[in-house]
Amino acid sequence: MRALRLMSWKSEPVLTEVEPPVPGPGQVVVKIGGAGACHSDLHLMHDFEEGALGWGPPFTLGHENAGWVHAVGDGVTGLSIGAPVAVYGPWGCGDCPRCRQGVEPYCENPGAAPAPGGGGGLGVDGGMAEFMLVHHVRHLVPLPAGLDPVKAAPLTDAGLTPYHAIRRSWPKLAPGSTAVVIGVGGLGHVGVQILKATTAARIIAVDNRKEALELAEKYGADLMVPAGSGAADEIRKATDGHGADVVLDFVGADPTMALAASVVRQVGDVTVVGIGGGTLAVSFFSIPYEASLQTTYWGSRSELAEVLDLGARGLVTPEMETFTLDEALGAYQRMQKGTLRGRAVIVP
Ligand code: NAD
Ligand code: ZN
Ligand code: ZN
Repeated sequence: MRALRLMSWKSEPVLTEVEPPVPGPGQVVVKIGGAGACHSDLHLMHDFEEGALGWGPPFTLGHENAGWVHAVGDGVTGLSIGAPVAVYGPWGCGDCPRCRQGVEPYCENPGAAPAPGGGGGLGVDGGMAEFMLVHHVRHLVPLPAGLDPVKAAPLTDAGLTPYHAIRRSWPKLAPGSTAVVIGVGGLGHVGVQILKATTAARIIAVDNRKEALELAEKYGADLMVPAGSGAADEIRKATDGHGADVVLDFVGADPTMALAASVVRQVGDVTVVGIGGGTLAVSFFSIPYEASLQTTYWGSRSELAEVLDLGARGLVTPEMETFTLDEALGAYQRMQKGTLRGRAVIVP
C-alpha cells in the first residue's frame, strides 16, 4: 500500500510503498477514511531534530484519523468488520494512573508506550496510508450515527485538543465572561465553535490573516481583532478594561504569548496550545493576580467521545478541504503559506 512517510528529521515526507499492516493480538487494522493534516506535522518536518522527542523517523504521518474496522487480531471482541471508528491518537502505556483515567497524553510510564508521548502518526505509523495499525483496541471510539470518517478525522485532534483546553476552563466561562482565541486555523476555528456550543462566553478572535478572521465570524465570534500592536488595547477596550477570563493561544509564539498575558483578567486562564517555540517571562507584577498559565496536550478518550457527539449533532463542524495522498505534500505547503481554509484532510 502507499503511505506518506517522514524518513528523517528536517525533511519533507515521501509517498512510498510499504507492506500493509497485519493486526497482532489485541490490535486492529483500520481502513483509513480521512487523515487530518496538523500544523504539528510541519513542526516535525522543520523544527525538531534527533533526540528532541523520545522517538523519531521513519514513520507514516497522520495523527488525526478515522475510518472503518478492516481486520482484528486475536482477543479483540465486540468490533464488527466495516464499523466506522475514530482513532484516539495519544497512545500511552495503558496501565498507569493517567492512562486508566483515559488521559493517555499524560502517561506516567511513557517508556512502556509504543512511542513516549506520541502515538500513531507521531513516532509510530499513522493514518496517511490506505490502512493503519491501531496498537490497542482501546484506542478506537465508535462513530455516532450521522458522522462519517472524513468529517470525524479532524475532530480527533483539531477538535479534541481545543475541547480539552476549553473544558478545563468551563467554570470561568459563565455568561458575562469573555474568551479570546488567538490563531483561528485548524484548531482555532474548531475552538470558536466549541466555545459557542458549550459556553455562553463572548468570543474574541485574533489572527494575522483576514480569511481566518472571516472564518471566526462565520462560526459566531463576537469581535474579530487583527494580530499586531493594537490588539491588546482593542481587547481591553472590548472588556471594559478588565481583560478576558480565558485566553487560548493556538500559536504559542513570543508575540501571541505576550498578547495572551497582557489581556488576561485577574483569576483568568491563559492556555498555550500552539507549539510556536515562544517563551513568557513571569514575575509577581507581570501578570494579573491569580491568573493561571498552562499548556495542554491533546485530550482524553472520554472527551473524544464528547467531541464526536458534538460533531454528530452538527454543533461542531470543522471546515475542511480534502486531498488525495498524491496531493498531501501540496496540502502541507498550503498550510505553511496560510492559504488553507480550516483543516486539510487526506482521503487515501
Ligand atoms: P494552522 O496552521 O491550521 O493554524 C494556525 C493559525 O494561527 C493560522 O490561522 C495563522 O494565520 C495563525 N497565526 C500564525 N501566527 C500568528 C500570530 N502571530 N498571531 C495571530 N495568529 C497567528 O495550525 P493548527 O493545526 O491549528 O495548529 C496550531 C498550533 O497548535 C501548532 O503549533 C500545532 O503544532 C499546535 N498543536 C498543539 C496541540 C497540543 O496538543 N498542544 C495539538 C495540535 C496542534
Ligand atoms: Zn496535531
Ligand atoms: Zn500510561
